Amino acid sequence: MWKQIYKVKNYNQQITFYFKMAKSSFEYVKTFEADDTLLPNTWIVIRLDGKCFHKFSEDHNFSKPNDLRALKLMNYSAFTVMREFNDVTLSYGQSDEYSFVLKKQSSLYKRRASKLLTTINSKFTAAYVYFWSKFFSAENLKYPPAFDGRIVLYPIEENLIDYMKWRQADVHINNLYNTTFWTLVLKGKLSPMQVFCYTFRQNTVFLAQYHQIKMKYCFKNST
Ligand SMILES: [Mg+2]
Repeated sequence: MWKQIYKVKNYNQQITFYFKMAKSSFEYVKTFEADDTLLPNTWIVIRLDGKCFHKFSEDHNFSKPNDLRALKLMNYSAFTVMREFNDVTLSYGQSDEYSFVLKKQSSLYKRRASKLLTTINSKFTAAYVYFWSKFFSAENLKYPPAFDGRIVLYPIEENLIDYMKWRQADVHINNLYNTTFWTLVLKGKLSPMQVFCYTFRQNTVFLAQYHQIKMKYCFKNST
């Protein structure tokens, strides 16, 4: 009996040895992995953006120019990310995009870019799908949406503030344009070509004078 136990033990040791040998001879492939550690002491900004959301919004009957259900779903997805990752100190969204700012001293995933981007993007996208019915009760999700993502590093506060100002200016311009465009088309009964012939200032004046429309604060400033 003891002989048998010894044989089994010996056999297991041999197997372990062979696996270790095999592992070490293949392990060199790890050296092909790129080191994507982000610079220390910099603000990490992760911006996600909906892929082909122009088509996606049409396929899911988003109301124009702003669909509150869609905006709330984006916010809730961002909230889901922030609830899970304490290192995300600020997030800002507009339309089909969301920016997440990580603490300057964050050591999340050892600041590895691919880990940070893929994890935050997949959490956001999964939340968007998971909570879809919470906001779009009458509208079925016809196919899975996708978001692309990028990481940008900002070394000083001024750069970060300018980044936020840039996104805020973008939402203002886009919403002014969209509100103008869709009001002129839906209420003004103009064709898209006629709308394009108006200048930016003419559009703004037209909205204010003939349609008594002022940009809503929440749309103008986003979320
Ligand atoms: Mg976009």
